[in-house]
Amino acid sequence: ARKHNGKNGTKLFDPVMASLAQERLKIERYIETGLSEGWFEAHLQPIVDLESGQVAGFEALMRLNHPDHGLLPPGDIIRVAEETGTIKQIGERVFEKAVAHLARLSALPGLEDAYLAVNVSPLQFSAELPASTFAVLMKWGITPSRIVIEITEAVLMHDSPDVREVLEALSTSGIKIALDDFGTGYSSLSYLLHFPVNTIKIDQSFTRSLTDEDQAVRKKVRMLVTGINTVAHELHCRIIAEGIETEGQLKELRAMGVSYGQGFHLGRPQPVETIEAELKRALPRTIG
Ligand code: C2E
Ligand code: MG
Ligand code: MG
Ligand code: MG
Repeated sequence: ARKHNGKNGTKLFDPVMASLAQERLKIERYIETGLSEGWFEAHLQPIVDLESGQVAGFEALMRLNHPDHGLLPPGDIIRVAEETGTIKQIGERVFEKAVAHLARLSALPGLEDAYLAVNVSPLQFSAELPASTFAVLMKWGITPSRIVIEITEAVLMHDSPDVREVLEALSTSGIKIALDDFGTGYSSLSYLLHFPVNTIKIDQSFTRSLTDEDQAVRKKVRMLVTGINTVAHELHCRIIAEGIETEGQLKELRAMGVSYGQGFHLGRPQPVETIEAELKRALPRTIG
């Protein structure tokens, strides 16, 4: 294989790299066409009050609905969109759709105050973000206090005056900030001190470990989650466990006093029409 390599060890033609590049081009085309043809959608996943079983809010999750290939999940699309800069436009589209969905669901009894959580990429954190966010909320008559912006550590790592100002402007208006995938980063705890974060989303890897087959692992993760729960409570942060897939995990989290949860066991991400139909059927809305 050595003789196929160039001087610096890079192959002149690498079929794996070539097919990756092709895959990437394909995604770039999907994004471009998707933006002009309106293929971007916001699916909603319920966030449930674990004590009462009531739906407290919904997380908007981006989907690209391709007419030939069906629903494409956000992973690769977001990565490519961040590289090409289209993430801003996609984010705006998805946000406007999600807010329209929230306005629609607000007509259901008990959902008048339900909140909407949206994921925002580090690259969307420009000075215009607050104004464009408020404009959409005005248009749909939604108060800022019903919106949660989910960020990951990646946003806070570029601790620039910009990020700080944007976060301050959003939270001054009543919008809440959630730290997503909590516990998977390098210094999640210190961000709680230095930024206006008021919601913690415990990463799904912790939820999964609650029912690990190894008893020692179960014991340790229970202590970790209990600890995070105490810290969150003391800091007046809302805490949400992500990725609840089984009744066993749900029971554990309830026993530990974790207030909110989200996961396939409680409800999958779905189009608003499906959510609406299910909630109407299930009135009064008690899940789990
Ligand atoms: P996230 O914000 O942590 O969202 C949770 C992910 O876990 C979603 O994947 C959701 O479908 C999935 N999930 C929910 N419950 C369960 C469960 O019980 N088990 C398992 N295994 N998975 C569960 P999805 O929709 O593929 O989104 C992946 C990530 O893409 C999100 O992670 C978020 O970081 C990002 N994302 C999604 N929508 C947007 C968006 O509109 N804008 C931006 N910037 N990022 C987005
Ligand atoms: Mg999220
Ligand atoms: Mg997460
Ligand atoms: Mg995630």
